[in-house]
Amino acid sequence: MQHKKISFIFGAGASYAQGYPLQDEILSSILKNKKLKESETGKLFISFLKDVYNIDPETLSDKHSLPTLEHILALIDLSTDDEAPLKSEYSKSNLLKIKNALIACLIEAINTSNSYNKYNSYRNLLDQIKESNLYFSEVSFITMNYDTLLENACTSFNPTINLGIDFTNYEDIMSDPFNWWIEPAHDNPDKLDIYKLHGSLSFKYCPYCKSVELIPFGICYENRPEQGCDIPKPKDFKIKTLFDHLEEESLTCPRDSQPARILIIPPTLSKKLDIPAISNLWKKAFSSIIESDYLIFVGYSLPLADIHMWQFLKRASFINQPKKVIIVDLNKVSNNKLLYRYKQIYKNIEFFNTGFNSFLTEGIFKNLLEAMQPNRKKPVQKSSGGC
Ligand SMILES: [Zn+2]
Repeated sequence: MQHKKISFIFGAGASYAQGYPLQDEILSSILKNKKLKESETGKLFISFLKDVYNIDPETLSDKHSLPTLEHILALIDLSTDDEAPLKSEYSKSNLLKIKNALIACLIEAINTSNSYNKYNSYRNLLDQIKESNLYFSEVSFITMNYDTLLENACTSFNPTINLGIDFTNYEDIMSDPFNWWIEPAHDNPDKLDIYKLHGSLSFKYCPYCKSVELIPFGICYENRPEQGCDIPKPKDFKIKTLFDHLEEESLTCPRDSQPARILIIPPTLSKKLDIPAISNLWKKAFSSIIESDYLIFVGYSLPLADIHMWQFLKRASFINQPKKVIIVDLNKVSNNKLLYRYKQIYKNIEFFNTGFNSFLTEGIFKNLLEAMQPNRKKPVQKSSGGC
């Protein structure tokens, strides 16, 4: 196990800083999207919302009357696993279709969101790490977010991303030449660990053989980190995005052709961690945390409902109390409450009541980096090959 200097733990607030809609805004932005409302995918999801939550998007006046995305996902998962289905017409396969429709809508809503991706704090963060005396391999990113903003930000730096999962399409060069990835080497100083504890929009999971495939996300060819970058892009080449797959309902496992699903685990359903790839990922994140000198929490309010995460952090703190825990949170209403929650776990805390962007642009992170290792010189870096 490599010694870690810093582990970052990102909550919803970190993605919000990049214009990604917050929980209570996602659904209303889906319902306002004209293209979605008119598509078959959108209609399928909206009729579910009307029927199950007594919501009519046409007469909706207050976005607070909408359920959270997590609630819907958890409800669908519960009703799929439970022996008693929600209602006779919501069979397992119908619910799976509705869930896929919801995810397709979510992706479309994010892609068309105006502010999304214009400024990326993750990119700025990576930039500052690269310029510091730290290697990417000395940092780990643990995130509660299932969006792919962080991975997308990595593309311009070309670190070797390690998502902590043994994907079935690692170096499967016999398949679609644009659908395979290079498995990162353990001793690569450019290896960047990203552990997505609640799954990802880019993880395709097969419940039958329990395998996970990494699928291209987004609409840009350039958004795909790591693979195929020296292969010339064919003329008129259009990558088949997750949205395309979901629209065509062709989300199947490449091994056994069984229906697959997007691996997103709502925090309320922590028991779903019996999925081997995900429980393994939690173990890797745990090792990173207990190896770290510093923990930096960004936009994570440590909600009491997420008892799984609380216990996870507490357990790690019994093994290793970090030198310092840094909390970055723009929490205007209840700073003390937030701080008390962290104090129940950690001893040495420094709290910055600021947003992720300001934390990076106002020199706070830069100063912290310098204070963490004042006299260290970055050893000469091996050339990393790559493209
Ligand atoms: Zn399978």
